[in-house]
Amino acid sequence: MRHFAIVGSGPAGFYTAEALEKAYGEAARIDILDRYPVPYGLIRFGVAPDHQSLKAVSKRYDKVAESAGVDFIGNVTIGRDVSVAELLDLYDAVILATGAPHDRKLGIPGEDLPGVIGSAEFVGWYNGHPEFADLDPFVGGSHAAVVGNGNVALDCARILAKTCHEFEGSDIVGHALDALDGSAIRTITILGRRGPHQIAMTPKELGELGHLEAAVPVIDPADFPPVEADEPLEPGLRKSVTLLRGFADLADDKPKRMMFDFFAKPVRIEGEGKVERIVVERTELDEKGAARGTGETYEVPASLVITAIGYSTSPIEEVPFEGGKFVNEGGRIADRLYAVGWARRGPTGTIGTNRPDGYEVADRILAELPADDTGEREGAAGLKRLLESRGVMPTDYDDWRRIEETEVSRARPGSPREKFVRHEDWLKVLGR
Ligand SMILES: Cc1cc2nc3c(=O)[nH]c(=O)nc-3n(C[C@H](O)[C@H](O)[C@H](O)COP(=O)(O)OP(=O)(O)OC[C@H]3O[C@@H](n4cnc5c(N)ncnc54)[C@H](O)[C@@H]3O)c2cc1C
Repeated sequence: MRHFAIVGSGPAGFYTAEALEKAYGEAARIDILDRYPVPYGLIRFGVAPDHQSLKAVSKRYDKVAESAGVDFIGNVTIGRDVSVAELLDLYDAVILATGAPHDRKLGIPGEDLPGVIGSAEFVGWYNGHPEFADLDPFVGGSHAAVVGNGNVALDCARILAKTCHEFEGSDIVGHALDALDGSAIRTITILGRRGPHQIAMTPKELGELGHLEAAVPVIDPADFPPVEADEPLEPGLRKSVTLLRGFADLADDKPKRMMFDFFAKPVRIEGEGKVERIVVERTELDEKGAARGTGETYEVPASLVITAIGYSTSPIEEVPFEGGKFVNEGGRIADRLYAVGWARRGPTGTIGTNRPDGYEVADRILAELPADDTGEREGAAGLKRLLESRGVMPTDYDDWRRIEETEVSRARPGSPREKFVRHEDWLKVLGR
């Protein structure tokens, strides 16, 4: 019998479990470990609460968790409760699927002023991540700015722009809904260092902005190259750029505005004791398509600044780490130690991108584990004994179902669930 430990229960962890299960069948036991008693990583804590159809991918992961050879072991933090070296003693292979939960920094003066937050914090706050339950972002001013030109920046801007009524059917947590209901924000500026052709925004997410109840996207047609220049763009990007061009024709007649400010590079953040404005340098594209400062600066008012410029993985002791992710070659970090998903590749791609990634690493494991290593390791039994000796009480998949049922039972009308936002509340449901 082979024993595999997958650290992290997000998409990458689950696709890898699915692939290993297919490859080994009854000859393997696969444990998916997570620091929380609730699985699915960014499907729960990242994907926007008003995009419920995307969150439905977790049904596929449920099937994996319910299959005979797979177990979910929650409430265990690798690197704190148990080390990677200890896991390697207990399991035939260890696969790190820990994602990339930390915001990259802008690296400019003023970034630490109150009111400047990263998208992981803001997104975690409205999605019920326990680390950010007390974030309380300041929505009492009229201007906010979101730095970044990807889908996460769009999510943050859209959440700030929506009315309470538009969150019907979503699982946005109650504290965020209440705060956003009282929001005074009327202008949300979306800052990008480069132009419309360099965005990383997809058509579905952009298209939504044209149909919001109380907000309208505003764009300067002068930021676009001639329309013929769209022709060679990859089809998805071309569609996004066409949508952006269409925003220039929309009537600016709603109370809230989402201003696209392209060729705008933040150079410092200013304010008396809290953020009041971002100083931005106008840029142009150089020969290689990179942003080059022009020396011209201007100010963008903002009492809330959200940076959405990428993420990095948490280092784990004794695992080589560089450039925000684990050092790996095709997913292999060292003998019997692998990485998948954002911990392997960095924060790029969609949920689905993690599937081939997980399957590729499962194939590698199959090819690389020596056949003459008979796999006499203990797996979960040894892990549970070790955790017990340290006073750590792991949770299982049934525990998660109890938490989920309780969340569903306390949902407001029309919402699929009201999430608990604190670790201790999950444990309370389990009587701990
Ligand atoms: C704000 C946001 C919105 C997104 N929206 C979309 C979208 O609409 N559509 C789309 O296709 N993609 C979207 N994505 C991308 C998608 O979420 C990622 O591709 C995917 O979640 C990456 O999967 P992962 O398994 O590598 O990491 P994660 O989903 O982050 O999972 C990592 C897991 O590891 C656990 N973990 C971390 N460290 C430890 C540790 N030390 N011990 C134990 N467990 C640990 C975490 O608790 C977590 O459960 C979005 C991403 C973000 C940030």
